[in-house]
Amino acid sequence: MKKYSADKIFTGKEMLEKSVLITDDAGKILAIDSIEHHDRSSIQFFEGVLCPGFVNAHCHIELSYMRNRITRRTGLVQFVKDLLTIRNEKLETVLDEIEIANQEMIRNGIVAVGDISNDDHSLITKQKSKIYYHTFIETYGFKPENAAQYFSNAKNVFYKAKELNLAASITPHAPYSVPPVLMNLIYGWKENHPEIFSIHNQETEAETKFFFDGSGDFKNLIDDFFKLNSAEVFQPTGKRSIDYLIEFLPKENNALFVHNTFTTADELKKTSENFPNLFWCACPKANLYIENRLPDYNCWLQVKDRICIGTDSLASNNSLSILDEMKTIQSKFPDIKTETLINWATINGAKFLEIEKQFGSIEIGKQPGINLITELNNDHSFSERSAIRKII
Ligand SMILES: [Zn+2]
Repeated sequence: MKKYSADKIFTGKEMLEKSVLITDDAGKILAIDSIEHHDRSSIQFFEGVLCPGFVNAHCHIELSYMRNRITRRTGLVQFVKDLLTIRNEKLETVLDEIEIANQEMIRNGIVAVGDISNDDHSLITKQKSKIYYHTFIETYGFKPENAAQYFSNAKNVFYKAKELNLAASITPHAPYSVPPVLMNLIYGWKENHPEIFSIHNQETEAETKFFFDGSGDFKNLIDDFFKLNSAEVFQPTGKRSIDYLIEFLPKENNALFVHNTFTTADELKKTSENFPNLFWCACPKANLYIENRLPDYNCWLQVKDRICIGTDSLASNNSLSILDEMKTIQSKFPDIKTETLINWATINGAKFLEIEKQFGSIEIGKQPGINLITELNNDHSFSERSAIRKII
């Protein structure tokens, strides 16, 4: 049995003072009690705020070898071209960097990750890790006639994940890269476990333009970079890309829309009402890295119980730290409280990944991991010096 206390403890519901957490040796919460009932010498006391372990709702750990290799602020389409151009690293380096990234996330107090994968490269690290991973096997491909082949590649990775007893589901990449026939194959697949989805949404204005009339940067990407004829492989819908995504999205399953930089307040509200199991993921540092633009997170507060936080990959970020993401949001949106951001970073991600029985809040019976956040200001806002230390 162990006892932990700090200046404050944020359970996910309330900010406690003069309290102590009692856990078993594995970190399962046995009790939360007043500090006065305990001998001081039996308690480990920390300066700062204790909070639940973080859930990184969106990462691509297999891209970790791309750290510091892609030019910043060139926009999504150029980013995709750069990424695909350097996607030929030796397997040994890819595997080493995956393990280094896994260790970085552990040190940064991350206990669970929703991780996008195209390959099986990260599966062994995930199986051995202390972190709980859900692998989203990302499926895409521009040619409708090749949909069965794209899907079969995804199934191969899926079965390898299942052999290792990892949580995994096959998911679409983004609206512009998944034709209707492939959407139907993905959502018609019933072996996902848990059956949840994660899709990139409205990361760039070019996506909107492409769906309206088939023109712009995505047309150039398909025609010039992939050497296909975009007019043959893509039918503009005359609507916004999110309308295409929700046409296929099942209502009964949890799903995560990632980035949402160009989602309007009205789209956020209406889509949330129509899809009660849809969550929205903020990846602010990646958005600044790629597009140098952030969504209006003040407007996201209208669905604040369904917002998660992700780091995205080291291709578009210099750290895998949920604390860094929260600090970035609050530096631009100072009215968003630290307690709200911690909920985005913990319980909301745990609910999305369907692991809230164990993770996401400090409650008796859960084993959520415990982090210490140091050097908060008196009003609990983050300071420049705020840092994270993993306690359990
Ligand atoms: Zn991503």
